[in-house]
Amino acid sequence: MAYTLRPYQQDAVDAVVKHFRKHRAPAVVVLPTGAGKSLVIAELARLAKGRVLVLTHVQELVAQNQEKFAAFGEYSTIYSAGLGQKDRSAKVVFASVQSLAQISDKITEAYSIVIIDECHRISLTDDSQYQRLLARLGQLNPRLCVLGLTATPYRLDSGWIYQQHINGTVRSTEPKPFRDCVFELPIGQLIKQGFLTPPTMVDGAVASWLLPNEEGELPQVNPELRGRATTLICQQIIEQAQQRQGVIIFAATVRHGEEVLTQLPTAQAALLTAKTSKAERAELIEQFKLKKLKYLVNVAVLTTGFDAPHVDLIALMRRTDSAALFQQMVGRGLRLAEGKTDCLVLDYAGNGYSIYSPEVGEPRPHSDTVAVEVPCPKCGHQNAFWGRKDEFDLVIEHFGRRCQGSHQYEGKTEQCDYRFRYKECPDCLAENDIAARVCHSCNKQLVDPDKRLQEVLKLKDYKVIRCGGVQLSKSQGKDGNARLKVTWFDEDGDELNRTFAFDAPAQKGHFYHQFMRQHLKNPGQPLRLNSIDEVIAQQQLLRHPDFVIARLEKKRFWKVIETLFDYSGRYRKADSAG
Ligand SMILES: [Zn+2]
Ligand SMILES: [Zn+2]
Repeated sequence: MAYTLRPYQQDAVDAVVKHFRKHRAPAVVVLPTGAGKSLVIAELARLAKGRVLVLTHVQELVAQNQEKFAAFGEYSTIYSAGLGQKDRSAKVVFASVQSLAQISDKITEAYSIVIIDECHRISLTDDSQYQRLLARLGQLNPRLCVLGLTATPYRLDSGWIYQQHINGTVRSTEPKPFRDCVFELPIGQLIKQGFLTPPTMVDGAVASWLLPNEEGELPQVNPELRGRATTLICQQIIEQAQQRQGVIIFAATVRHGEEVLTQLPTAQAALLTAKTSKAERAELIEQFKLKKLKYLVNVAVLTTGFDAPHVDLIALMRRTDSAALFQQMVGRGLRLAEGKTDCLVLDYAGNGYSIYSPEVGEPRPHSDTVAVEVPCPKCGHQNAFWGRKDEFDLVIEHFGRRCQGSHQYEGKTEQCDYRFRYKECPDCLAENDIAARVCHSCNKQLVDPDKRLQEVLKLKDYKVIRCGGVQLSKSQGKDGNARLKVTWFDEDGDELNRTFAFDAPAQKGHFYHQFMRQHLKNPGQPLRLNSIDEVIAQQQLLRHPDFVIARLEKKRFWKVIETLFDYSGRYRKADSAG
């Protein structure tokens, strides 16, 4: 054996072996760029008793993986039409999925393991090339091991590619291409262990609101102003690049990339997009590696399979809602190279991630939210949610819905049922996801908030306020005892009230369940509810509902019967314009 595995590479191999000893559920290994996936592949291929198939979707990667394998003194063959080789005779075969899928019916040899590189490209649709091929391989060997490798296991369009993580986190209960993530190495670990160069992060958020958004839409501002922002940013990049070797700039759209290119020194800069021809792309990357070009502007093409260790400045002019994609872009500048001590990262898009940010796996609810860790009060699992922190780095708000922890029950993984945010079933009181249409416990149809609003707005015994705030105060009950008074108010000064008795422990519990739990910005965290004054003193912890519905009782007073949170329907909310 001509290679030595790094400790974490050995751990990854061990985790895979251990998993497939126990079962055949498709597994994923998550390794960041620069972790040396090819060594993990090589070692697994060496250990496998039967035939090994290494699949990828691009021929460059097929060639790259095979070359590395050969460099370790191992024999293999290539099956890829694009590479002009169609040989499946070796024990280890590197293949492009397109080429192999075309002849899947004709394959007769049984493989013991199929290793899929860049496996986040797999789709679940039955007629996709991957699925057809995997189905055929499964026919030939019902005990086939399916392993995926990727740096980005969360897709913005389709979510997580696997269901559960070895650390107990449940990512999804929906079907996914893989079941278990058996090993994951965060990119921060690679830096700590000295296998990657540390980044120096600079928040260049001078003009993040002037950049195109995730969908590539340009902001509705004066084009001149936006152009000026691009000019300013590029001037700053050029200035910062004086002491740097190689600069990669991530732009949001082709148009944006072209705009950026015009601001850079012509002879030293080039633009790469999906439209750039293969030959031209290869030529430009070569020029860049030879340092004849200093600046490479790119639009979504340099996130995988690009290796230029001398890169020491990364400028981000595009937003992403994926921490892993952010880390992958930054990762382009973290390869070790002689004389390189750090990589400067200029984030102009206000992405707000660090190299240590966990992947939340949900669309970002607001642009100013960051990934936060929230422990579950029931099982203690550390959840990664979107949220906000105060100046002391304490979580003051989060948008998590259900705990992602799990436990084993009768040999099966069950997700923790604690819900931070929920909608209660009026019939059985079960807590449901805020977007649920049907109660998970009794199957009752849950009321659609739009229908509900439409219905009560027509009834004269009902009152609906478009809630803009909530306030707690002290009042006096008929018995002379102090009460906790909740006031919800709207933009026009109208309000609805509800009072809670707060003497006995049961009353405090009632208040917590009826009011507090739904109204907390940071639900699930310990709270002191000893006295009315103490609760009032903590009211900065509260959020307000979007709508409050009350019914006229005894023709005299309005009784609050419902609060609607997390509303996203067609009625205007208090905080939104229009
Ligand atoms: Zn839990
Ligand atoms: Zn129910």
